[in-house]
Amino acid sequence: MQRKIAVMAGDGIGPEVMAEATKVLAKVAVKFGHSFEFKLGLIGGAAIDAVGDALPAETLALGEASDAILFGSVGGPKWETLPRDQQPERRGLLGIRKHFKLFANLRPSVVYSELAAQSVLRADIVGQGFDVLIVRELTGGIYFGKPREIVVTHAGKRAVDTMVYTSAEIERIARVGFEAARKRSKKLTSVDKANVLDSSVLWREVVASLAADYPDVELNHLYVDNAAMQLVKNPRQFDVIVTENMFGDILSDLSSVLPGSLGMIPSASLGEGNFGLYEPAGGSAPDIAGLGIANPIAQILSVAMLLKYSFGLNAEAEAIEKAVHETIQAGLRTADIWTEETTKVKTAEMGKAILERI
Ligand code: NAD
Repeated sequence: MQRKIAVMAGDGIGPEVMAEATKVLAKVAVKFGHSFEFKLGLIGGAAIDAVGDALPAETLALGEASDAILFGSVGGPKWETLPRDQQPERRGLLGIRKHFKLFANLRPSVVYSELAAQSVLRADIVGQGFDVLIVRELTGGIYFGKPREIVVTHAGKRAVDTMVYTSAEIERIARVGFEAARKRSKKLTSVDKANVLDSSVLWREVVASLAADYPDVELNHLYVDNAAMQLVKNPRQFDVIVTENMFGDILSDLSSVLPGSLGMIPSASLGEGNFGLYEPAGGSAPDIAGLGIANPIAQILSVAMLLKYSFGLNAEAEAIEKAVHETIQAGLRTADIWTEETTKVKTAEMGKAILERI
């Protein structure tokens, strides 16, 4: 298979962990006989320093000419005093997501039994480990609905937000959820608040109506309050969760603390077709940038997601995931997940150990 990948490392630990991820990509290409061409694009603070714009036109053009984007992270103290619309996060990351109309955010939360001690959950709840994928709608719902305003009335101020979804928007994201479940353990939980919200009544109706197209996927529905409880009480019951924008924002942040370090969590933001942007769930980690101690696993697992969701290369993705798990089983740990009985390694050593196991 021949594919073009735009690589945008960004700021802070971005370039450090990206160096390991691109080596993994190159190894997979050789091992499985693919040709991946990757070109580097400037983004975020690095792009501001180089060309004065966090999202240069050349970077957008590179993304457009590519089949997928592998993204690092952007931002840091150096650019925090710039006007908000010029800052790396807003102009760079939000700008690129908007440009490519990325409407689905996929965030897996994988907790290995070997890392149970790092999880905020009790060891008996982690058990043999678990793997939950949250699929969040990104472009609709209460964050974008109109009217949205604060008005002054004779009785004081009044604020309005609008939770709005069309059946087409719901169907589009639900299909991403069903398709993702198909690539995994074939179980989909749709999360809503259909006992209170009309938008959720429609949500549930549309999701349920699609079930017939996916007879191999087992579908159930949960209210969002119950889903939050179940995620910490018994996360092993879940495979894929699909939900609207605000519920997904909250649940995916909740699920991202379960593995114990942001350095373990990749993510995907998908648009129409097979295009997607893949990045670690964490940020540029200025507190450890330049020290060579960042955990490269989130960036490396972002490569696995890219191969799976944009290129349909499931065996290749699984080879990476297996290599990561085996490296953890071998007792290698970066500082963020290290415990006394394990071996502390730096970013490059962790990357090399994973590479060798592919
Ligand atoms: P952060 O995710 O960068 O860091 C939070 C904590 O997690 C830090 O202690 C950090 O050291 C740790 N951490 C994160 N990734 C790690 C890794 N791979 N290995 C080891 N430890 C890791 O969040 P923050 O400190 O709130 O934000 C720092 C900067 O990143 C800010 O400028 C913020 O705006 C930006 N940010 C960018 C993105 C993005 O590019 N997608 C996301 C979040 C934050």
